[in-house]
Amino acid sequence: MIIVMKPKAKEQSIQNIINVIEAKGLNAHLSKGKEITIIGVVGDKALLQDQNLEIYEDVDKIVSVTESYKLANKKFHPEPTQIKVGDVIIGGNNLVIMSGPCAVESEEQLLQTAHAIKKAGAQILRGGAYKPRTSPYSFQGLEEEGLRYMKKAREETGLPVICEVTSLDAIEAAVKYVDMIQIGARNMQNFFLLKEAGKSGLPVLLKRGLSATIEEWLNAAEYILAEGNPNVVLCERGIRTFETATRNTLDISAVPVIKEKSHLPIIIDPSHATGVRTYIKPLAKAAVAVGADGLMIETHPNPSCALSDGPQSLTFKQFEELTEEIRPLVAYMGKRL
Ligand code: PEP
Ligand code: MN
Repeated sequence: MIIVMKPKAKEQSIQNIINVIEAKGLNAHLSKGKEITIIGVVGDKALLQDQNLEIYEDVDKIVSVTESYKLANKKFHPEPTQIKVGDVIIGGNNLVIMSGPCAVESEEQLLQTAHAIKKAGAQILRGGAYKPRTSPYSFQGLEEEGLRYMKKAREETGLPVICEVTSLDAIEAAVKYVDMIQIGARNMQNFFLLKEAGKSGLPVLLKRGLSATIEEWLNAAEYILAEGNPNVVLCERGIRTFETATRNTLDISAVPVIKEKSHLPIIIDPSHATGVRTYIKPLAKAAVAVGADGLMIETHPNPSCALSDGPQSLTFKQFEELTEEIRPLVAYMGKRL
């Protein structure tokens, strides 16, 4: 449940409510808007049954929150959340593009990519050092060596860097080198990993599971938030359907649905959603038009030789064309790239 305070409620009135909640062993989550403060109760609200919070000073109303996710819920936090990654802000009026290779293959490949995507307007460099591949015989990533190249790319270009983590060991290594960690689609319901990502202190990009509902996805975000890490960005990357013309089916409606249900930023990954290079630009445009906060797009110096996801990787020229073509749309949406 949430307690909505009256406009300009006194600090002492807010504190009184927090004290009642905490005295019952529950957590109070404070969301201060320009005018209105909302106090969310996390935990078993039945413990507050004997309290008539409505009669406390400056309380406007009590609203029950029926959804199982609380901290990720827009009712708890009506203002959209903005998340800082290095000097880049995700959310608000920014359209943030993360780009780079599916897998970090060599220092040269990564540095070349970092310079090219920066020139084209991307603000964050992505690269996989731990690759959760469908086949155990496919390239599994350079692991910590790959993370070292990511750090070097940040030092050379100033771009913050993001890398997927697949285990506790990977998280422990990643915190030394990267600015943001990614939980991939295959691990979206790996609750142990979600908790560890929550404890890592780094912002987390949480991809939607291959067959996850939006409610399951928001509950996965809740696991990270519940560890005291408020910096979660959601990423729609296509879901499994009967359609085989594309690798997955991009659920573009996830953007307005998430915007209605949650305050967390959401970006779209048309690369993994389609698996087909030629569909990426049109879907990137759709993502901007539907109000996504950003894009994740795979790029490679020579996609035909890529060790992973070559068919969906853009060349630098194709990526530059994409960013140029979406610029007017970004401006039309009142955002900046
Ligand atoms: C990736 O970003 O390289 C990746 C493996 O993505 P997903 O988890 O969405 O398949
Ligand atoms: Mn990939």
